[in-house]
Amino acid sequence: MTPPRNSTAARDVAYALHPYTDHKAHLVNGPMVINRGKGVRVYDDQGRDYIESVAGLWCASLGFDNERLVQAATDQMRKLPFYHSFTGKSHEPMVDLAEMLIERAPVPMSKVFFANSGSEANDSVIKILWYMHNAIGKPEKKKIISRLKGYHGITLAAASMTGLPANHKLFDLPLPGFIHVGTPHHYHNALPGESEEDFATRLAAELEEVILREGPETVAAFYAEPFMGAGGVIIPPVGYFEKIQAVLKKYDVLMCVDEVIAGFFRTGNYWGSQTFNIQPDILVCAKALSAAYLPISAVMVNERVFQGIAEGSSTVGTWGHGFTYSGHPVPAAVAIETLKIYDEMDMLSHVRKVGPHMQAALQQRFAEHPMVGEVRGVGLVAAVELVEDKAKAKNFDPAKKIGARLSKLGEKHGVIMRAMTNDSIGFSPPLIISEVEIDEMVDRVGRALDELSVELR
Ligand code: PLP
Repeated sequence: MTPPRNSTAARDVAYALHPYTDHKAHLVNGPMVINRGKGVRVYDDQGRDYIESVAGLWCASLGFDNERLVQAATDQMRKLPFYHSFTGKSHEPMVDLAEMLIERAPVPMSKVFFANSGSEANDSVIKILWYMHNAIGKPEKKKIISRLKGYHGITLAAASMTGLPANHKLFDLPLPGFIHVGTPHHYHNALPGESEEDFATRLAAELEEVILREGPETVAAFYAEPFMGAGGVIIPPVGYFEKIQAVLKKYDVLMCVDEVIAGFFRTGNYWGSQTFNIQPDILVCAKALSAAYLPISAVMVNERVFQGIAEGSSTVGTWGHGFTYSGHPVPAAVAIETLKIYDEMDMLSHVRKVGPHMQAALQQRFAEHPMVGEVRGVGLVAAVELVEDKAKAKNFDPAKKIGARLSKLGEKHGVIMRAMTNDSIGFSPPLIISEVEIDEMVDRVGRALDELSVELR
C-alpha cells in the first residue's frame, strides 16, 4: 500500500539515509515507523505493539518509559545544559560518573574518557594505543588483532577491527595494521570431535602464530567482545580467554575489551569480563550505560595506559584528542541515574533470575525445531541459529535471506527481531523483562518460525 504523500513514511523515503539499509529496496518497501514505547514494548504508527527482543540495538536496558531518566535529564538541562571537558575544565556529572565507573570496574582501572558512541570510544582506544606506544619509545608496536565476526563499530579504526564483510566491502577497509584471527564458535569452527577446551587451545595457538609471524614488537593489542554480539551472539568456548590472555602476556600485548553490549549485567554478571575471566587493560562500555536514553560511551584505562598518555601529553604539550561532547553533563546525569537504578533494583539478581528462564524457554521451544541448528546464550542474551540441514549444521544460502524473512514475519506476530549473519536470531531484551514477558516473546517468535517453516515447505 502506498503511504499518503505527506506521511512520515513517505517523507522518510524522500529524505532519510538509513544506517544498515538496502537503499534501493527501501525506496520500494519504506520504513517501519515507531512512535512510542512502554516497558519492553514499542508501538508503530498504526498503534500495533511489538516486544523489543533486542532492546532496540541491545541498548534500551530499562525499557522505553523510565520517568526517572527523563527527570534526571530535565534537571541537568536546567542546571547546566552543556559544558565541555577540554583543557582541564570539569563539572560534577562527569566526575561523579567517572568515579562510579572506576568503583564498579572489573579490575583496577585508573581513568575514564567519555565519548558519544561505541565506535568513537573504540577509535579513541586505537589512538590511545598508538599514542602511548610512541610516547614510551615503542613506535613499532601498533598492530591490532581482533576476530572475524567481531563487531566494534563503524568509524575507521573500529570498522577495521570489526570482522564482518558488510563493514568492509566497498569501504576500502580494513586499514593496514588490523589483523583478524578466527571466530571462537565451537558449533561451526571446531574440528569433528574436538572439545571446547581443545578448540580454545587451538585458537590460542593460532593467535600465537599470528603474533610471531607479525613480530611481537609490532603488536599493540588484542581487541575482543566478551561474547560476540552483532556477529551472532557467539559465546566463547570454555577456557578461551584464559588461554588467549596467557599468549598476550607472553608477548606484552594489551587486552582491550569491548563491553559495549556485554557491559552492565547482560551476561549475568556486572561485566562480561567477570563472566569470562578477562583482565582488561582497557575497557569500553556504552549502550546500557545510559539505558540508551542519551548517547554516551566510556573508555576505562589502567594505570599503565594512563602513564603512557600522560607521558605523551607532557612531551607534546597536550593530549590532542577529545570530542566537543566528551562527558556532556546531560547524558552523564542520565548515566549516573541509570547506574543508581541498577543498584536500587538489584539488577544483578533480576538478570540471574530471568536469564536462566529465557535460556530454558528458548531451548524448550526451539532446540528440537527442524530449522534450528543451535540455541546458545548466557545470562540474558541468546541466539537461535536457523539452518537448512540440521544434521550437517549447514546454513541456508544467504541469498535466501531466511533470517530477514523471519524478522518480517515476527512483525506480523508482534515481535521485533534481529537477524544476523548465518541467520542467527539474537535475543537481548530490555534487562527489566519479566518471566511472563519472556514467555510471550518466545511464543511470538515461535509462531513466526512455524509460519516460515510452512512457507518453505
Ligand atoms: N562495540 C560493540 C560490541 C557493539 O555492539 C557496537 C554496536 O552495536 C559498537 C561497538 C558500536 O557502537 P555504536 O553503534 O554506538 O558506534
